Parts: sequence; C-alpha cells; structure tokens
Amino acid sequence: MSDIEDDAGTSRQIKDDVEDSYGEPVSRKRAKKGGKGKRSARKEAEDNDSDEAIEVTNFPDQPLKRDQIGKLLGLAEDWEKVAEIIKRPFPKYGMAAGGLADLGDEDAIEKVDEIDGYMRESLDVIGVIKAHANALNVIRQSGLQGQDIEQVEALYAKTAKTTVADYKKKTTRQKYAKEEAYVAFKSSIWESKHPGIPMPPITEQIPREKADNSDEDDDLEVGGVTQNYLCPLTLTLLADPYTSIACGHSFSAAAITATFGGSNGLRKCPAAGCNKQFSLAHCKPDKDLAKKVKAYKRRMERNREDSDAEEVVD
Ligand SMILES: [Zn+2]
Repeated sequence: MSDIEDDAGTSRQIKDDVEDSYGEPVSRKRAKKGGKGKRSARKEAEDNDSDEAIEVTNFPDQPLKRDQIGKLLGLAEDWEKVAEIIKRPFPKYGMAAGGLADLGDEDAIEKVDEIDGYMRESLDVIGVIKAHANALNVIRQSGLQGQDIEQVEALYAKTAKTTVADYKKKTTRQKYAKEEAYVAFKSSIWESKHPGIPMPPITEQIPREKADNSDEDDDLEVGGVTQNYLCPLTLTLLADPYTSIACGHSFSAAAITATFGGSNGLRKCPAAGCNKQFSLAHCKPDKDLAKKVKAYKRRMERNREDSDAEEVVD
C-alpha cells in the first residue's frame, strides 16, 4: 500500500487535468514553477513571436474581481465532480471483495485486504480533493465578505496546505468509519461470512488510535446496513429486482408491475414508512442488486450445507 504522499501526487495530477479542461493554459502554470515547463513555454513563445516573449511574470498581481469570486464556486464543484467519479466503482469493489471472501482461501483473503487498501487510498484521494475544494470555498467566503483577494495563487496554495494537512492528521476511524461507501464495502465482505446478520459497528474493525476520543465513538456506532433482500410486496426474496429512483426501494419486477396495473401515474411507494411517490417508469432493473440476491442465496445455501456437514460429523 502506498502512503499518503502518493495520494497527494495523484490528486495533483487530477488537479492539473481539471484545470486543463477549464481552459487554463498549462504552460503558464508550469512556467511559474520553473523547470522544464518554463523552457518549453519560452521556446514556444519564441517560435511564435521572436520579437518579444510575453512573460506572465512581468504583469503585476491583480486582486480577484467580484465576478471572478463566483468562479471559485465552479472550481470547487469541479473538484467535487472528480471525487464523485472516483467513487463510482466503489460498489463493484464491494462485490468483488465479497466474492473473494466467499472463496475463503488464504490467497483470496489476501486479495480482499488488497482491495480494502485500494478503497482507503481512493478515499484518501477524495479527502485531499475535498480539502482543495474546501480551500477554494474558504477564499470565496472571504471574498464575499468584501475582503480583497490578492495573490490568489499563493493564497490558494497556503489555504489548501492547511486543509490538506487537516485531513492527513485524521485517524483511521475519522477518515473512513463515517464514509458510507466504506461501511457498505465492509458490509459486503461481512455479508459473505454472515449472510442475513447485520454487521456490528465498523469501529469494531478499526482499532482506536490515541487521537480518537470516546465522544466520537457515539457517532460511529453505525453498523452496516443489512440489506434486506425481501420484496416489500411479496415478502419473499427479490426476484428480478426493480429499484425506484425516487427513494431507492426495490421490488420484484412482477409485483411492482402488478401494483401499477398498467397505469403510468404516480403512486405512493408501497414500502412501509416511505412517503415518496413514483411511477412505474421511475423503477429501473437493478442488476447489481440481482447479483447480491443471488450471492445471498448461494451463501445461505453454503451455510446450510456446512451445518448439515457438521451434524454428520457429530
Ligand atoms: Zn420508497
């Protein structure tokens, strides 16, 4: 597993990519840092216009104007979008790890730990990305309060240094235990060994560190959400599950189709305690869930066989 320095490196790369896509000239940024970029930027300028090379460093710094302050929000949102993209494969990581845990041999367990490491690395990258977004928001806030934002690059570098350092100072629990995606990931592995049994609070799997205070534990007493694989309509295992995009509740295809009886109108969600309304068009086939139900069935079957075998031995 690589350390956090690598993650910061990755995010720097992402940052460059984001800014590049924002249309900011790469050569300008790199020219300021000096080094190879400077030479090539200069060379380019000479090639294009040999009379007078335009050097950005010759211009005095301009404070950020009011309308430019608004753009900081857009930049912060770009960071958030990158974080969302990194998060996208997380449910697949969970399924892969759960499948490997099913195999149960040493090699497979080692791979589960490896995937766990990737999860944490990805979450660290997201942590750093969010720290950068946070830095932009801090600058934006002081701009909105009427402060002149001068030397914006230096200010950003300084602010981001603090917000990133704050993230890195966090303990393992503080970094991951409240991350829904991580808890879901751990639940997938847990489910492999304990199908149908809710996962205890994730803190049981992450040892307490010195900087973890006990007050925080109260917030962290969230276990894995035991996925309920029963259809609320048939009260049997989901068959060909459809999930409502309005509320995330899932139903067996035949049952939810029958509930709407050919109507395209809105109806109250049939799941107990849910007040959302949706139409049949809002219910989409849920392939991931179908796979989970299949794995659940297989695991229950395996457990039953195991306990039968034990009885024979006894
Ligand atoms: Zn619902």
